[in-house]
Amino acid sequence: MRDKTLCVKRPQVSHEGFASLAIPTYRASTIVFDSAEAYANRKYRGPDGYTYGLHGTPTSRTLEASLSQLEQGLRTVLVPSGQAAITIVFLSVLMPGDTVLIPDTAYPPVADFCEHHLKPRGINHRIYDPMIGAGIIDLIDDSVRLVWTESPGSTTMEVQDIPAIVAAAKARGVLTGCDNTWATPLYFKPLVHGIDFSSQALTKYVGGHSDLLMGSISVKDVDLHRRLKDTTRMIGIGVSPDDCALALRGLETMGVRLAHSGRVATDFAKRIASRVPANLVLHPALPDCPGHEYWQRDFAGSSGVFSVIIPPYAEDALPGHLTAAKTFSIGASWGGTHSLLAPMTVTRATDGNAHPGTILRISIGLEDEGDLWTDLEPIVEAIAERPRNAEDRMET
Ligand SMILES: *Cc1c(COP(=O)(O)O)cnc(C)c1O
Repeated sequence: MRDKTLCVKRPQVSHEGFASLAIPTYRASTIVFDSAEAYANRKYRGPDGYTYGLHGTPTSRTLEASLSQLEQGLRTVLVPSGQAAITIVFLSVLMPGDTVLIPDTAYPPVADFCEHHLKPRGINHRIYDPMIGAGIIDLIDDSVRLVWTESPGSTTMEVQDIPAIVAAAKARGVLTGCDNTWATPLYFKPLVHGIDFSSQALTKYVGGHSDLLMGSISVKDVDLHRRLKDTTRMIGIGVSPDDCALALRGLETMGVRLAHSGRVATDFAKRIASRVPANLVLHPALPDCPGHEYWQRDFAGSSGVFSVIIPPYAEDALPGHLTAAKTFSIGASWGGTHSLLAPMTVTRATDGNAHPGTILRISIGLEDEGDLWTDLEPIVEAIAERPRNAEDRMET
């Protein structure tokens, strides 16, 4: 072979004796075949075969297999974000005329997707009270194809009665899905409770370092897996092997990161609840949290995200305290090594779930907890020093 060919065709080197603990990053668009016949028959390679980089590499398959093991599922599909994990489930299941039920506490872009993408295409949604439990059966009419859950709910942390919702959905022959981002499969296993689709924003705890975006959907059923893969293939989305390698690295330390963040978050939530009206602190491990009993029954632990309702009398001081924070950063997303504060306003469609005003979402990372508390203390003080005339403005 001549030089220009040698520039392109690499020599084979031995891999013999090379055993690394690191996950190799296999990059590929093209997958090559060693015969014309193998190429012609590539579509018969099945879900474990390789045909095109978009449809999987050994790196992405390793991450999928790890997540399937943790979720106790059969297969996992990777997509470019946590939001895509949810929308791909909806797109793989719902047809015009169908209805999806979503909790009022779902990650907010889910309702936007239903309202502005699905509805104009003839797919309906209804928003339900996350605490509905077995009562969901009354909402499951013949048009309902999918019941979506998220537990605990985004920002307001209501823990859902997943077994009761699954039982009702199964009684009506309807599929169920659960956004398992907060707990991760280390602390909750939706598929074990009968959920059909367990999704995660790997962007959060699995990635764990605020530097990648990815989502996963785990299932126990080959047919649902095929539907998800068909949908991602037709839409044309896949994930980068580099990001998969980062996610696999993140997964290695997730157990200790979660244990640490969960402990500090729970300690802080209890400490705050001892200084301010306890119903202002939204953390599943606190008895005041709606669904606390379901968290105790179904979850193996608590991750590092919780919220504090900022009463009206403490709202004016909050921006100053956030800006002055030295260890916390201000920002959305969560689940990384850096602790974050995010002032949120939530809108709720169902009665009884409204929280007017600001809710401070707190994500605990890996910094020194004394430094973190120094940042939180003035915020807690502002809530604790409730002015006498604030009584009648405390209805949150
Ligand atoms: C962040 C988040 C998502 C979306 O994840 P992205 O990767 O940012 O799209 C979905 N669900 C929950 C509960 C989240 O917190």
